[in-house]
Amino acid sequence: MHLDYLKKQDPDIFKSIQEEKKRQMEGIELIPSENLVSQAVLEAMGSVPTNKYSEGYPGKRYYGGNEVIDDIEELAIKRCRKLFNAQHVNVQPLSGSPANMAVYFAVLELGDTAMGMKLTEGGHLTHGHKVNFSGKLYRFVQYGVDRETEMIDYDAILQQAKKENPKLILSGYTAYPRKINFKEFRKICDEVGAFCMADIAHIAGLCAAGVHENPVPYFDAVTTTTHKTLRGPRGAVIMCREEFAEKIDKAVFPGLQGGPHDQTTAAKAVAFGEALKPEFKNYAKQIVKNSKALAEAMMGEGQRIVSNGTDNHLMLVDTWMNGKGITGKQAEHALEKAGIYCNKNTIPFDTRSPWDPSGIRIGTPVITTRGMKEKDMKEVASFIVKAMKNHGNENALKKIRKNVTVFCKNFPFYK
Ligand SMILES: *Cc1c(COP(=O)(O)O)cnc(C)c1O
Repeated sequence: MHLDYLKKQDPDIFKSIQEEKKRQMEGIELIPSENLVSQAVLEAMGSVPTNKYSEGYPGKRYYGGNEVIDDIEELAIKRCRKLFNAQHVNVQPLSGSPANMAVYFAVLELGDTAMGMKLTEGGHLTHGHKVNFSGKLYRFVQYGVDRETEMIDYDAILQQAKKENPKLILSGYTAYPRKINFKEFRKICDEVGAFCMADIAHIAGLCAAGVHENPVPYFDAVTTTTHKTLRGPRGAVIMCREEFAEKIDKAVFPGLQGGPHDQTTAAKAVAFGEALKPEFKNYAKQIVKNSKALAEAMMGEGQRIVSNGTDNHLMLVDTWMNGKGITGKQAEHALEKAGIYCNKNTIPFDTRSPWDPSGIRIGTPVITTRGMKEKDMKEVASFIVKAMKNHGNENALKKIRKNVTVFCKNFPFYK
């Protein structure tokens, strides 16, 4: 990374960025919402379109001098449409949360009923949690997973939808380790006359690569962040059917946002270009292979994995095991000291609080980007379990951290 000017002008921030890079390279990053972007995406993010104001859309801007920005935004749109087979794409949402907000603004009236998954069972804050704008402005009814299988029960959702009569039903999650049957959601929406929306923030890379079902062609609107499995810059896009295009564009601008972040739009275009390459399909496949191998290895080490496995890039580990193990918070802290990064997470029907829940969420997008394969997952699982077993033992955790750093040297990424 060339940060020569920064180094000279602002040694404090330069030093912090170097330290953060070192942390990322020396540790095992298992947070499933993170990834490592390419050098090309990084360069686009740090480039001069950041200087421009371009409120509006290509060809209809409220500022002069946008010919080049129009080209960038049009190329980002074109590539994203191709990648997801989308009728209409808006590439301006600043992040996943504002993208969801824009769709709600476009199709719901304040106080309208909508349905989304509970936060504690895999949904996102913006899917109707009471502390979030979504739960405050709309009447979100929440669905969960089945107690036995810990998976989605489509029939239960249909029954709930018939009873609640929502104007919008949202699928797509933050902490759900299984495939989503989007066709079932389309059917449920048709049956109750609801707007059919998915938020594929986590699995977008898998959908784009054809490893998971891509709901975009037959859903009314699909939002996604661009920085998770899709491996682009921080940001989001909204994809929708042509008939909703005008309303959604208006909800993004002028409804919700001012000027788009044009350097991010450029970086989104670069990332979509990368995702259109054949190598990306292999990457997405490998994410899932690694995730399955990691789940197997964790279970082999005596850990309980929610729903007994995974179909995607993430899994939930039940670290608490009804009091026989350690809490999610203890596990997260122990792992952190060992140079392994994850987040504490509730498990379905958790009896503990979200501040100190019964599990952790781990995933494979970053370690797959670094080139790890199935055979490496055994080692990763063994580091995780060793750290959990030694929680509270500072010296043991320090020792594990040293071994983690040595292990990570085999998978270099940023120079
Ligand atoms: C990450 C995530 C978001 C939010 O994205 P931000 O960019 O953090 O606002 C929205 N929905 C889902 C399902 C997510 O996983």
